[in-house]
Amino acid sequence: MSPVKPQPANRLILLGAPGAGKGTVAKALVDLFGLSHLSTGDMLRAAVAAGTPLGKQAKSFMDAGALVPDELMVGLIADRVQQPDCKSAAGLVRFLLDGFPRTLPQADALDAGKLGPDLVVYLNVDDSVLVDRLCGRRTCPNCGSPFHIHFAPPKVSGICDRCGTALVHRSDDQEDAIRKRLEAFHRQTGPLVGRYAACLVTIDGAQSPAGVLAEVVSALRLRGAIADRTDDSAHAAS
Ligand code: AMP
Repeated sequence: MSPVKPQPANRLILLGAPGAGKGTVAKALVDLFGLSHLSTGDMLRAAVAAGTPLGKQAKSFMDAGALVPDELMVGLIADRVQQPDCKSAAGLVRFLLDGFPRTLPQADALDAGKLGPDLVVYLNVDDSVLVDRLCGRRTCPNCGSPFHIHFAPPKVSGICDRCGTALVHRSDDQEDAIRKRLEAFHRQTGPLVGRYAACLVTIDGAQSPAGVLAEVVSALRLRGAIADRTDDSAHAAS
């Protein structure tokens, strides 16, 4: 019997606690493989900054380190995946989800829409490492470049190396909110690790960003789970 040709993954989920490195891995995978990156945290921050009705409803939850209610999040993603950049040439929905689902009802909503993941990459990192990472994290509000006051400082303190914009310390990256976000992760998002066991790849997220990325890419290639840009279908779809 001839071996079954592996199918590229159309729908990937990045799972991990706040500060586990989902955003960094996502940006690299988008560059490498041309999937649309759907970060619910970025979408919510944009909604808050623009003062939309969603932003006004989400802000107090985010500032408190709590999760935004499921019905708002499910509606946000349901609308977003209808956009043309999430469709392959064959009409299939393709995406790289970062920060969604974060609860079992959110995972149920994906399944109900026949949008369950082909593969879930779980970045596993100890809480003590996450607290250090998040407390020192600074982000460029203009180009999104990430920095850390100790581990990856900008050349000029407080200024983005890439575009010269003043860096921000997210209001939910203060120690109190960080503890609440980690608690919410373990209680509400942790069960998704078991839920997705059949399609889960666990990566040690405490390594350097380059080490994490190398492991993620080799795990994805090993599983034949993602087409690289030399593949025609990836070109057509991206
Ligand atoms: P992040 O940038 O992914 O850490 O998200 C920042 C904040 O946005 C979280 O602490 C939550 O308040 C909110 N958020 C992002 N994604 C979700 C989600 N899938 N469900 C509920 N709240 C979310």
